[in-house]
Amino acid sequence: MEYAEAIASGEAHDRCVPGGQKTLNKLNKIVGSSYKKVDMEYGPTINNQKVSIVEEECIGCKKCISACPVDAIVGGMNMMHSVIDDICTGCELCIEPCPVDCIEIIELSDKEILKPRNDSQHFFDNKEFIKTSSKRTKIKNYSTKNLNISEKINLQLKKRDINKLKNLKSMQISIIKSDLEKIHKYENDDIDGFIDKNSD
Ligand code: SF4
Ligand code: SF4
Repeated sequence: MEYAEAIASGEAHDRCVPGGQKTLNKLNKIVGSSYKKVDMEYGPTINNQKVSIVEEECIGCKKCISACPVDAIVGGMNMMHSVIDDICTGCELCIEPCPVDCIEIIELSDKEILKPRNDSQHFFDNKEFIKTSSKRTKIKNYSTKNLNISEKINLQLKKRDINKLKNLKSMQISIIKSDLEKIHKYENDDIDGFIDKNSD
């Protein structure tokens, strides 16, 4: 918000490193001038870290879920929430909304943080691609279905001997498939093609 206000007052708009080139392109259109590249002098500002929820203190208000840009938090209303390590990018956006301050930061090495950030970017890119690739209608109608899928997978993730990353990916693919089928009216063959084309 502070940077948005600074841009509105005439500050250069090429300094949002987390927003990257996409954000710069949008800002170029809004502001009406054209910077070619993000000025990396101003970032990155996020440390190598992820977050973890102190589960016994969580009151299940879901505020952190709404804040997370990469769907890395799972949990139902009034129930304990958890962070999925494999896709948390450590952006800290969930910390401030938590009313009981039960989300803590854990430091990581360069190697440990690279994979979750890449996976999260991949998931985010897929969701963005779907949103813009055809007419977007009432996505809210399908959020309940997506929540049910998440809760089902969440139950699986609680089992100690399970491959969390594999289950998480299957959850993401289920959600994307559901959106493609119900909202964008893709046929089954097209959905498989889309998932293959946009997968690692
Ligand atoms: S730190 Fe960012 S990516 Fe991780 S759970 Fe919180 S909002 Fe999501
Ligand atoms: S915002 Fe905090 S209390 Fe609310 S669900 Fe998330 S971790 Fe739990």
